[in-house]
Amino acid sequence: LLEIEDLHKSFGETEVLKGVDFTMDKGDVVSVIGSSGSGKTTLLRCINMLEEFEGGTIRIEGEVIGYTTAGGHRRRKPEKEIARQRALTGMAFQQFNLFPHMSAIDNVTLGLIKVKKLPKEEARAVAMRWLDRVGLGERAGHYPGQLSGGQQQRVAIARAIAMNPHLMLFDEVTSALDPELVNEVLQVIRSLAEDGMSMLLVTHEMRFAHEVSDIVVFMNDGVIAEMGNPREIFPNPSTRRLAEFLKTSS
Ligand code: ATP
Repeated sequence: LLEIEDLHKSFGETEVLKGVDFTMDKGDVVSVIGSSGSGKTTLLRCINMLEEFEGGTIRIEGEVIGYTTAGGHRRRKPEKEIARQRALTGMAFQQFNLFPHMSAIDNVTLGLIKVKKLPKEEARAVAMRWLDRVGLGERAGHYPGQLSGGQQQRVAIARAIAMNPHLMLFDEVTSALDPELVNEVLQVIRSLAEDGMSMLLVTHEMRFAHEVSDIVVFMNDGVIAEMGNPREIFPNPSTRRLAEFLKTSS
């Protein structure tokens, strides 16, 4: 589903991704962990072309994302093509980024109507199905300001998934929430994972990563320092860096 080869990304002089190699299959649930500044968010943002990157290749379902290399020259693909490729992934952010002047259901239908070109009634039906799925069917008419942070995040997740992405990217989606609201969002993600959705999550929730992920990727200083099944690497990390990280974050 996702193949990343030798990914390099800098911001000015600072190299943030220093050669990331990674592969995941359809249906995999992958958690990316690592200390602050190790490049986790940047990795996710490269996958859906919110960031440009200077080197390496990202493929989704075999398709090279973002760049062509015709005749030895690396060129950014046309915006229309990038927009189409971006839709292969859905993303949920730490800050939910809902439109404050639109109700929950209108937030979810917007992309279905504007991008997917669904007729309004059909878009509403799809949106309702996903709002129900995240436990918010009864709040469909509420505006973001009338919803708790956890509810807003669930709307944001419904909005991303309603577009039918092949891979969901979750970027620290519980980090901005009050502690008592974290679980309702994790529960939604857990149930989507159980349904077989392919997902790549950046998270600081070690217990959740442990319980839900097929694979945990530990990033350190711009590279993947260790990866594997959390049931194996958490109790028995093979690098000292991961051992230290787990000690300080549990
Ligand atoms: P955290 O857990 O704190 O979110 P992270 O592992 O997700 O950290 P990134 O957000 O990917 O880390 O950031 C990696 C590095 O890149 C950091 O040093 C950060 O300051 C830098 N960085 C990120 N975005 C930009 C940007 N737009 N411009 C300049 N530097 C950036």
